[in-house]
Amino acid sequence: MENSLHDQIKQLLHDAPRVLVVSHIRPDGDAVGSLLGMGLALKAQGKEVQMVLSDGVPSVFRHLPGTDLIRHHVHGEYDLSVALDCSDLLRTGEVLQGRQPDLNIDHHITNLNFARVNFVLPEAVATSAILAEFMEAWGLVITEDIAKVLLSGVVSDTIGFRTPNVTPHTMRLAADLMEHGPNLSDLYTRALIRHSFEAAHYWGYGLLNLKREGRLAWAVLTLKNREEAGYPGKDDADLINVISNLDDVDISVLFVEQSQGKVKVSWRAQPSYDVARLALSFGGGGHPAAAGVEIEGLLSDVEEAVLKATKSVLDNNHQKEQDTNPPA
Ligand code: 5GP
Ligand code: MN
Repeated sequence: MENSLHDQIKQLLHDAPRVLVVSHIRPDGDAVGSLLGMGLALKAQGKEVQMVLSDGVPSVFRHLPGTDLIRHHVHGEYDLSVALDCSDLLRTGEVLQGRQPDLNIDHHITNLNFARVNFVLPEAVATSAILAEFMEAWGLVITEDIAKVLLSGVVSDTIGFRTPNVTPHTMRLAADLMEHGPNLSDLYTRALIRHSFEAAHYWGYGLLNLKREGRLAWAVLTLKNREEAGYPGKDDADLINVISNLDDVDISVLFVEQSQGKVKVSWRAQPSYDVARLALSFGGGGHPAAAGVEIEGLLSDVEEAVLKATKSVLDNNHQKEQDTNPPA
C-alpha cells in the first residue's frame, strides 16, 4: 500500500514535463524550503518548473538558492500541480484558481486530502523533512542547494529542534542534510534569530498591549501598527514565538489584522492541549501545539469569539485534570 503510493508519486513526478509547485500564503520557512526543495530537484531533471507563492518570499528567506525563481502567479500551462505544506486548498491563495492539485504533500494532522494523490504524514516535523526522507525514493536527487533549503525548512518548523515532536530520527535526517554541506548555524540564525528593525518595531505595538487572563495570553497587531512600523509582510513577524514562551501561560493567541476585513489568528499551546481542533472549528488548521486560521470579520468580533472558544478549551482541560487527579 505504502509502496504503491511511493510508486504513484514517483510516476507522477517522472511523467510530467511541466510542473507547478505551490505552497501557502504568508509563507514560513517550511513553505519556502519545501517549495524550493521540490522545485529545484525537478528543475535539475530538465523539467519546466514554476514555483509560485501567492505572497512572495519573506525577506529572511531570500538568501536561499532559487528564491529569485519564485513568482506570485502562474504563467502558462503545466501538466502537474504539487501543493506543499498546505492542509487545504484555500491555503494556496489564488494560485490554482480553485483547480484541484494533482499531488498534496504535507504534515498537518488537519489536512483535508484535497488533491488527487495525497501524501500526508502528521508525525513528520516539517514538509521539508518529508522531502528529505523520500525524495530519493521518488527518483529525485538531493544536492547541496536542496539540502540547504530543506534544512532551513526543518529548522524553522521545529523552532530550532525544540518542538516536542523532534526525535532522534529528525536529528539523523538533519545530520544527513548537513553532510551535503549547508551551514546549520547560518541557516538557524537567519531563520529564527535575526530580525529586521521594522519587525522589532512591529512587535512593540503587540507587546505594549499584551493581555493575560488565567493561563491565556493574547496580543493584537492592527493594520495601522503594521503601517507605522513599516513592516512589509502580512505575517506576525514571528511575534507569536515570543508570546508563546511566557511563564504560567498554557495557550497564547495572536490576532493580526489583514486587509479586506480579515483577521489572521495564531494559537500556540503547551503539550496536553490541542489547538489544531480549535483552529479547524473556525475553518483553519495546523498542529496540536501550533495552529491558525484566517477569519472574516471585525477585529473586535473575531477577538471575542476566538477568546471565548479558547477559554473553553482551557477550562475543559482543567476539568479533565481535576477528574483524573481530584483534589485530596
Ligand atoms: P501560524 O499560526 O504560524 O501561521 O501557523 C501555525 C500552524 O497552523 C502552521 O502549521 C500553519 O500551516 C497552520 N495554519 C496557519 N494558518 C492556517 C489557516 O488559515 N488554515 C490552515 N488550514 N492552517 C493554518
Ligand atoms: Mn510545515
